[in-house]
Amino acid sequence: MIFMYIRCHRRLARVLCETGQVETERAADVLRGAGHVAVLTGAGISTDSGIPDFRGPQGVWTKNPAAERTSTLSHYLHEPEVRRLAWQQRVASPAWTAKPNPGHAALVDLERQGRLVALVTQNIDELHQRAGSDPALVVELHGTMRRVVCWSCGADGPMEPVLDRVRAGDPDPHCLACGGILKSATISFGQGLDPLTIERAEEAAVKCDVFLAVGSSLGVYPAAGLVPLAREAGAGIVIVNGEPTPFDPIASAVVRGSISEVLPLLVAPA
Ligand code: NAD
Repeated sequence: MIFMYIRCHRRLARVLCETGQVETERAADVLRGAGHVAVLTGAGISTDSGIPDFRGPQGVWTKNPAAERTSTLSHYLHEPEVRRLAWQQRVASPAWTAKPNPGHAALVDLERQGRLVALVTQNIDELHQRAGSDPALVVELHGTMRRVVCWSCGADGPMEPVLDRVRAGDPDPHCLACGGILKSATISFGQGLDPLTIERAEEAAVKCDVFLAVGSSLGVYPAAGLVPLAREAGAGIVIVNGEPTPFDPIASAVVRGSISEVLPLLVAPA
């Protein structure tokens, strides 16, 4: 009985392994044939740099659903305790010391091959730019955590001096010019995205031969909507993610695996 169980288990492991390899090869083939690749990245590409995602198995919200309040605009603007918690989280974020990983580097390689039309990211950590991606090709749908903006007068500036004020004891620093509420220059739930930024992302989705979605649960719109948009415009879809996504059924290839291991294989020249 135990013997049969072990045999069965081994066979399953082998089949899963072979299936993964077949899918990786299929995805690599789809990508190799593409001269114009648009990429969408999500929090999953940065977890191997030590920055947790929100909704993955080890995600910040998976472990603590209440943490979602700090990312909701109405709570942030109207509840001082939510802002204080948000500032504590910003100061403690692992993103300040995080380094790009081989997943980020693979997308720099894709760009050097002259095949990247846009790197659309939901991430706010700027690790793509730190890895060496051309900032002109990076479309930050959800803004950046490295800058701060005043909700009242619109003044913006670097985040670091404001974090210094928090470290020095101000739990909820306000704008030095007008006294307004300060917030990281990121898009919270309930906040509109910049129309020009969405336009750039959509343009890339409709112009590419292949749309590569990496490390996103593809549950947040309008980012997730880029996948069906690209498909309708005729692009092949490649999805690399540790878990299933709602758009797996329309993809030409779905690779389930560690992004920092899989992505370098997918973009390597033939
Ligand atoms: P998400 O948390 O909804 O989904 C991340 C997905 O990546 C999950 O399905 C998870 O299974 C997968 N994943 C995680 N690590 C992986 C790995 N090493 N290999 C393969 N798959 C892996 O992320 P999202 O779709 O980007 O949406 C979250 C929102 O939160 C975005 O709007 C983003 O702005 C923000 N966010 C950004 C960061 C960041 O900048 N690094 C971090 C957390 C959240």
